[in-house]
Amino acid sequence: MRRRFTPQGFKLKVARSKTGRGVFAQEAIPRGACIIEYTGRPLSEKEQEKDGKYFFWTSSTTMIDGNIPSNTARFINHSCAPNCEVELKDRRIYIFAKRAIRAGEELTYDYDTEYFEAHIKPRGCLCSKCATARARAADQKTAYA
Ligand SMILES: [Zn+2]
Repeated sequence: MRRRFTPQGFKLKVARSKTGRGVFAQEAIPRGACIIEYTGRPLSEKEQEKDGKYFFWTSSTTMIDGNIPSNTARFINHSCAPNCEVELKDRRIYIFAKRAIRAGEELTYDYDTEYFEAHIKPRGCLCSKCATARARAADQKTAYA
């Protein structure tokens, strides 16, 4: 399928989620659709050395800081079983639907490993896949206690 790198204007809402704020689909989104662009302020080489929660590589040498009010995509949370995926084109970042998404579902994508190791792993991942795995492990502990 050829990618169309233009956000299709789906209705989205920023609302409370398990991890603070999250972005939710207000209408059904078909698989493969371009949902939103992750925008930000370009960073100088010096600024790239800092560690920003919303920093995002746009090429091997360029980076943006997504912590700007108009960048709704900065509220999209991490999941290890995401319904969205990120694609770069011409140093711009786009979020695509990895599968069909229902109205009301929270949008998630898999953050890169570096971010996951630094910010998510230390406090434990809160995504639904990890929550289910933890519950199952706890059940087993109880079963064999
Ligand atoms: Zn997880």
